[in-house]
Amino acid sequence: AAASAAELLCCANARALLDSVDAFLFDCDGVIWKGDKLIDGVPQTLDMLRSKGKKLVFVTNNSTKSRIQYANKFQSLGLSVNQDEIFSSSFAAAMYLKVNQFPPHKKVYVIGGEGIVQELQLAGFTALGGPEDAEKRAQWKSNCLFEHDKYVGAVVVGLDPDINYYKLQYATLCIRENPGCLFIATNRDSVGHMTDLQEWPGAGCMVAAVCGSTEQEPIVVGKPSTFMMDFLLQKFNVSTSRMCMVGDRLDTDILFGQNAGCKTLLVLSGVTTQSTLDDPSNSIKPDYYTNKVSDILSLLGE
Ligand code: PLP
Ligand code: CA
Repeated sequence: AAASAAELLCCANARALLDSVDAFLFDCDGVIWKGDKLIDGVPQTLDMLRSKGKKLVFVTNNSTKSRIQYANKFQSLGLSVNQDEIFSSSFAAAMYLKVNQFPPHKKVYVIGGEGIVQELQLAGFTALGGPEDAEKRAQWKSNCLFEHDKYVGAVVVGLDPDINYYKLQYATLCIRENPGCLFIATNRDSVGHMTDLQEWPGAGCMVAAVCGSTEQEPIVVGKPSTFMMDFLLQKFNVSTSRMCMVGDRLDTDILFGQNAGCKTLLVLSGVTTQSTLDDPSNSIKPDYYTNKVSDILSLLGE
């Protein structure tokens, strides 16, 4: 069936949306901030939603930080957000292993940053690779084997600004040669905002490198996969029909919300433009769209 057109948020439907929702799930980049810059009107909007008793949850695919590091980022931007309200794809990777009873004597090899390593360690797992292997070089010599740890039972791949051939060889050997080794991707975003000015290659390109060498597809724990949603639903007692997912990306955020049966609101303050939304070849349509989250505030006349 063809998706019905998205409705522009207006005074009447904004009021109805607020009345029909108990929890708002916010994507972060492109909604709350862009890179390291807060988006206009966000603090006031979050305050208003909290004052109306709405539960707020923050779901980000950016794996470079742990939840503790995100709580600090929120605080440095002047937003008071509790660690329990934050679901990052770095945390999701650790929780995936926990929920699936990954044996504690096995190790996890990381292509990614400190955020993933920290979450794995907080969950009680032994992490190898990541920033530690940033300077390593893969050198091949005849009669000399590249050694990898046979106890690695999972490889987690996320955004890694120091990805190199050594890490690719390490991860590839673990996945191809260690029996039952899991291949987990934090997310597959094509691009991300390192700063507010430009888009940079996202974790999708690092994940694709490992798909190429292993001829395997990863388990994705970030949006649009339902893992984070299932996990956060166990923590909060809210029905998905009374939740609204607010995001700037159709193929991650809006699809994530729709997969779970949430209402969806697209904001045009991030990667999606009006012309992408209107493009007939785009099959993912949010319920509502607006320029930025603080429109909720102005439309309600608050
Ligand atoms: N991954 C990386 C590396 C990023 O830099 C970003 C955004 O900046 C994202 C993913 C997407 O994050 P979010 O889900 O908060 O939009
Ligand atoms: Ca986003």
